Amino acid sequence: LVKNKGGNQYYFFKQEMDRDIRKNYVLMAELSKATLNHEFQMFYQPLFDTKTGRISSMEALLRWKHPVYGYISPYDFIPLAEETGSIIEIGQWVLKEACNQIKDWQSQGIYSCAVSINFSARQLQQEGVVSAVKDTIQETGIDSHLLKIEVTESVMMVNVETTINTLYDLKEIGVQIVIDDFGTYYSSLQYLKNFPLDIIKIDRCFIRDMVEHTKDREVVKMIIDLGQQFGMKVVAEGVENDEQYRMLKEYQCDEVQGYLFSKPIPAEEVNHFFIQRS
Ligand code: C2E
Ligand code: MG
Ligand code: MG
Ligand code: MG
Repeated sequence: LVKNKGGNQYYFFKQEMDRDIRKNYVLMAELSKATLNHEFQMFYQPLFDTKTGRISSMEALLRWKHPVYGYISPYDFIPLAEETGSIIEIGQWVLKEACNQIKDWQSQGIYSCAVSINFSARQLQQEGVVSAVKDTIQETGIDSHLLKIEVTESVMMVNVETTINTLYDLKEIGVQIVIDDFGTYYSSLQYLKNFPLDIIKIDRCFIRDMVEHTKDREVVKMIIDLGQQFGMKVVAEGVENDEQYRMLKEYQCDEVQGYLFSKPIPAEEVNHFFIQRS
């Protein structure tokens, strides 16, 4: 705790912290009922192919519409759900929702579009995670190549041996594996060598600074080259302006995602957006 403006300040922080902790406890309890209460909603953010300018796939991003607090960010509630274990149930809901959405879009004949979902540490470590994915794919009857699973470096590091095996098993089903937020953790080249990865997503902090700072630009170029050398597709996340997009095209980054193109939006709005854009 910082005590920069005399004793009162400390007291104020302490009170605020106590309140936050209490609020977190309440949220944790509510999280366990949120699935049943239909408080979750899936948003989708498109990814674009830099060569064709067309939508290549969608990322499914979870939203919790709390009855009192309104929309709560996954940055705030996913860690709580990890702690209580309700992430398992939530993750299962997300998986099912994403597969149903793939099927929906496919049967509407609009496009056959891959969807990626994000996995947290506990989800990936969960016993039977591979059969859960396999079963859901079978139940919905989708092509398994249309499902992608995004995992961050830190999530991959939790239990390296188990993780490698799980990822290989998922790949065997036909699911594509994405390393998310790449460059922010240890970024060991060992991962790229030993993990069965199909796609690398360059973390948005490098994209944010690439126009102004040479070093960030060099990191971006290096990840693109390295990823492609390893036979992976490279995606830039957090693309917010034209200059970033222009550079990424110049460096032959495969795909882009970010507010410049679209924020995450509900599935119904994606339909409309897709028809316009493709
Ligand atoms: P992520 O997977 O790295 O997702 C990218 C985040 O950046 C999303 O935040 C997205 O809305 C945001 N974003 C996209 N484009 C831009 C941009 O141009 N500028 C900026 N500033 N931000 C952009 P969101 O939706 O709040 O999700 C936050 C994180 O929560 C995700 O990061 C992911 O790690 C996690 N998450 C989201 N949905 C799920 C889920 O269903 N399950 C799990 N386990 N984690 C999830
Ligand atoms: Mg992601
Ligand atoms: Mg990311
Ligand atoms: Mg991120």
